[in-house]
Amino acid sequence: MSDALAPEFTAFNRWLAAGELRLPWCDACRRHHWYPMPRCPHCRASDIGWRAVAGRARLYSWTEVSHRFDPRYQGPLPYIVALVEFDDAPGVRLVTNLVDTPREWLAVHLPLVADFRAAGETPPRVLFRAALTRSE
Ligand SMILES: [Zn+2]
Repeated sequence: MSDALAPEFTAFNRWLAAGELRLPWCDACRRHHWYPMPRCPHCRASDIGWRAVAGRARLYSWTEVSHRFDPRYQGPLPYIVALVEFDDAPGVRLVTNLVDTPREWLAVHLPLVADFRAAGETPPRVLFRAALTRSE
C-alpha cells in the first residue's frame, strides 16, 4: 500500500520510518484511536494529532499463515498475523506480524514489544515480539 493510495497513513509511516510509533490522538476526548481518520471515532471531534506510545502491547488474537496466498510473496512460512492491543492506548488494536516468538508461547494477553527491524521497508512496518526472551 503506498501513501498515494492511503494518504491518511502518511504521517504514521513517516514516524515509523524514523523509528517512532505514534498513533492518532484526539485532543478533545484525550484518547488514541486506530486507524487514522479525519474525525475521532469516539467523539467526532476533528482535533486529531499524533501521540507516541511506548510500544508495549498484549496479544489480543492471532492466526498462523502456512500457505503462500500470493505467488509474489517470497518471505518465510509459516508466519504469524497478530492483533495486538497497546498497554498505553486501551482498546486500540493493530494488525501486525509477530517475530521471534515461539509458537508455544502464543496466548491471549502475552506481553509484547514493538520491533522496528522493518521500519526501513516501503512502506515501513512495525512488528511485535514477545517481551520476554528464551533466556529470561
Ligand atoms: Zn475524541
